[in-house]
Amino acid sequence: MSYFDHNATTPLHPAVKDAMVEVLHSDWANPSAPYRLSAGVRAKIERAREEVAGYFSADPSTLLFTSGATEAINTFLFHKFQTLDPSKKILVSPFEHPAVLETAEFWFMHRVDYMPLSEEGDLHFEQVKDLVAKGDYGLACLMAANNETGVLQPWEELSLHCAENETSFFCDATQWVGKLETSHLHQCSAYCLSAHKFGGPKGIGVLFSKEMVSPLIHGGTQENHLRAGTENFTSMEGLRIACQQCLGSGESVQPGENWRDHFEEQLITSLPDLRIVGKGQRRLWNTSLLVMPKFNNFSWVEKMDKLGYQVSTGAACSLNKSGARRGLAAFGLSEIDVRKLIRVSSFWSTGQKDWAGLADAFAQAYREMEKDARQSGVISI
Ligand code: PLP
Repeated sequence: MSYFDHNATTPLHPAVKDAMVEVLHSDWANPSAPYRLSAGVRAKIERAREEVAGYFSADPSTLLFTSGATEAINTFLFHKFQTLDPSKKILVSPFEHPAVLETAEFWFMHRVDYMPLSEEGDLHFEQVKDLVAKGDYGLACLMAANNETGVLQPWEELSLHCAENETSFFCDATQWVGKLETSHLHQCSAYCLSAHKFGGPKGIGVLFSKEMVSPLIHGGTQENHLRAGTENFTSMEGLRIACQQCLGSGESVQPGENWRDHFEEQLITSLPDLRIVGKGQRRLWNTSLLVMPKFNNFSWVEKMDKLGYQVSTGAACSLNKSGARRGLAAFGLSEIDVRKLIRVSSFWSTGQKDWAGLADAFAQAYREMEKDARQSGVISI
């Protein structure tokens, strides 16, 4: 497999595709209709809810199907906006995805504070805990794993600390679910996932919330009056099977960590001055965020594409957003570094040979780009 952009999206797992095709054939009836055909679909929706909730040891009544993580985040933050004491603020990590950063700023405007960072660029956890304990915040938001760097955040500890201090805690677990063990997520007041990040279809996700949220979408009684609109059962079933495939075994095997690490070592040798963001920190086993020594990231993507490998520019596209800038600055990245960022991300289907092939392709791309640059005489960053 030469696709190395799984943090953006994953291909559909074959078992998910089969299940979805079956639904399109047989279970296409509107679940709200009064006849038996529909009753069957309604029952299967509830089976999907129960089974998916089971993988998280969650009460099925706390599971809301959404169109993805973005909608789940919007639903929860809107609910907090409606219910939070106006004298309270919210505390958000600067590493969050724009779906959290921008939604938080949209609803809470001047009531958003960012979690303090240490000199090394990670969370200053003791200070974060002190802030929560002071009682000024009605909500803390900390993602489980960062989509760009793969760096893991101390969300388990913070969820417990927030519970002790009667502060609501939201965890964006979009990049965690399907890659790492999910058994502690039930400690959070609310958390979300997205099926397309782990072999499921795009356009379906889940908000788990112990707090009763208010609907973001009105006009029907579906999802227990919490999300109007005819249910997307095909995708719900796809999500159920993706959970079965990725979370079902209960194993916490990390298939590619050594391969990823070996790839990074190889790359450091073949590309002098390469930097790896967050290298010393606990990271997802599948992700490397690279600051290339030379040439802008779009040239790298194009060259790698020609060599048959899909890699990403990572956050570069969303960098005009204030939050994303803040998060990357935390890693000590300058504006020029940001234009040299390349993210590679694997998945369960990626093998050792794929990682080795990727390292060779980067070395070849570098040689070719150096040669092209020498011939054209253009000075490159
Ligand atoms: N949160 C994180 C950490 C993500 O990586 C993504 C997608 O890239 C999202 C939220 C948004 O997910 P969705 O595509 O399901 O809306």
